[in-house]
Amino acid sequence: MREVYLDYAATTPVKQEVLEEMLPYFTEMYGNPSSLYTKGFEAKEALMQARSRVASLIGAKEREIFFTSGGTEADNWAVIGAAKSRKSKGNHIITSKIEHHALLHTCEFLEKEGYEVTYLDVDKDGLISLEQLKNAITDKTILISIMMANNEVGTIQPIKEIAAIAKEHGILVHTDAVQALGNIPIDVKDLCVDMLSISAHKIYGPKGVGALYIRRGLVITNLLHGGAQEYRKRSGTENLPGIVGFGKACELAEKSLESHIKKITELRDYFLSGIMSNIPDVEINGSMEHRLPGNLNLVFNYIEGEAMLLYMDLRGIYASTGSACSSASFTPSHVLQAMGVPIEKAYSSIRFTIGDFTTKEDIDYAVKEITEIVEKLRSFSPFDKDHVMETSQKCNCQA
Ligand code: PLP
Repeated sequence: MREVYLDYAATTPVKQEVLEEMLPYFTEMYGNPSSLYTKGFEAKEALMQARSRVASLIGAKEREIFFTSGGTEADNWAVIGAAKSRKSKGNHIITSKIEHHALLHTCEFLEKEGYEVTYLDVDKDGLISLEQLKNAITDKTILISIMMANNEVGTIQPIKEIAAIAKEHGILVHTDAVQALGNIPIDVKDLCVDMLSISAHKIYGPKGVGALYIRRGLVITNLLHGGAQEYRKRSGTENLPGIVGFGKACELAEKSLESHIKKITELRDYFLSGIMSNIPDVEINGSMEHRLPGNLNLVFNYIEGEAMLLYMDLRGIYASTGSACSSASFTPSHVLQAMGVPIEKAYSSIRFTIGDFTTKEDIDYAVKEITEIVEKLRSFSPFDKDHVMETSQKCNCQA
């Protein structure tokens, strides 16, 4: 059976060139970058080369890149580190309702510690309002953290404008660019952000490695304490094979950024037109204008997203639900809810994300199979145009 992976926002396969560059750092080049002998020096050199490659992709200086265990740690460090270091100035943080849980749960943690957090609304396209942002600022605001691109609907926020507002008020700005990296151009100097989170496994690098960009001169409180690695800011022996892989993935992403964007945008649009011309009653969640090139989040009306995922899985097609129900709470996507998507449509939403290894043949196969699956599921669905499930009925599974 053909396998069609359409979940590149969840993770990506490690590219062959990335793997090849990583392998020697598991075996013959096993040195610790902190060791003061040849094996350590060669490890340190590899670490520095990776730092330079990562920095180059986002327009940063090498000394502004601090390797972490991934996007989650980078988000935690940025928000907690900034909050703690600015505590004497204020206790108010502004973020949005559609952030990744790595950010939202960190803010919730800080709320328990006495910080106040404003969660900005988004419009139907998933965009925050700059007016609402301005109005939310108080003399206690110390940090604004808004994601560059959303992981579910791909909405790209106006980070440069957000940073300009923050700067007017002397407030720090962080952005979670985990989904944006390698998919749109990023230049930290042009954006004027103070901190930016990235992760390797979304750009054909390994899992468990990421980085936080911290603008030169900015000091935030350390999250991890121990040795003096990462310029005394992030302790722990470096995950050198992972970091080398991240560096290589960034180098490849920088070289092919333009062609990558063109290719996945074309495939995404080809997929969309195939679905729209074959299947009735399909809607798009979010804006097509301010959107990551490979992202498509679709509502297949009258169908339960989870059921559709299972049927797709049986035919080798991998995607994810927009309504990611966790078995414990059974709540629909907080992102779609914040965008005002009705609950029954949120439950009928599927996120498809296209990447470097997707082919036109994959898309043709996916469109054909999805068309059959939708027809089949709708044929025995009690929820059709004339009989849409009551919202109240739908919700009573919530914890
Ligand atoms: N932020 C966003 C927007 C993400 O999509 C993800 C991962 O899905 C993360 C943060 C967390 O990154 P990591 O998996 O590297 O911890």
